Amino acid sequence: MSKKILVLCMSVLLAVMALAAGCGSDKKAADGEKVLKVGTNADFAPFEFQGADANAYEGFDMDLIRAIGKEMGYKVEINNVAFDGLIPSLEAGNIDVIISGMTINDERKKKVLFSDSYYKSGLSIMVAKDNEAIKGFKDLKGKKIAVQIGTTSAAEAKKIEGAQVKELNSSADTFIELAAKGVDAVINDRPVNDRYIVESKNDNVKTLSELLTSEDYGIAINMKNTELQGQVNAALKKLKENGEYDKIYAKWFGEKK
Ligand code: GLN
Repeated sequence: MSKKILVLCMSVLLAVMALAAGCGSDKKAADGEKVLKVGTNADFAPFEFQGADANAYEGFDMDLIRAIGKEMGYKVEINNVAFDGLIPSLEAGNIDVIISGMTINDERKKKVLFSDSYYKSGLSIMVAKDNEAIKGFKDLKGKKIAVQIGTTSAAEAKKIEGAQVKELNSSADTFIELAAKGVDAVINDRPVNDRYIVESKNDNVKTLSELLTSEDYGIAINMKNTELQGQVNAALKKLKENGEYDKIYAKWFGEKK
């Protein structure tokens, strides 16, 4: 069974289990507080990851969604799901929203509603430091490239002529593949590649300055839930106005230029 099918089966199974457990979007916590069930793929630093404490999800997205939940009067519950299982989980009603560095695009808009953009991103290339042959995207023709499955990086890599694309489960796996010289290059969202360079202290790789795309991240919401979309947008707007968004941004990315 291919990985894709396996992940899909797991998502369906999770959805069925959630239904059986009676989880829905309007469930209340024991103390009567409303619960916002958030889906994320927590392997995407600095947006979502598990740090020293594996139960405490950290990152820009995690701080932002907690602030949004607070603003809306919901208790936020984080669920860690495979990236390509997130939209199926949302469609099945297993989670209420997705925040996972997810790019707003037309294909996804057929399946989910998106909030207003909350972060501007783009894709960048990482190669071995001594690789002089790959200087930009045009040099990726016919090369071996690692990407995360189900992402905009995967979609872009597949458009490159003659490229052999390896689709892996996480961005962390793409870095391992590059370090093991299983591929010539990796394509990921720029902040994720940049963060790896700083945090991993891996001196044998570099990112190229050219960006392939300009992308906006949005919070995904079930197609039927326009009310929740309105609430999320209102909360996001408030946080941008009252300086809370800027505080969270500065914590993870430094002051805005
Ligand atoms: N922004 C990219 C996408 O939406 C990657 C997201 C991710 O891997 N978490 O496809």
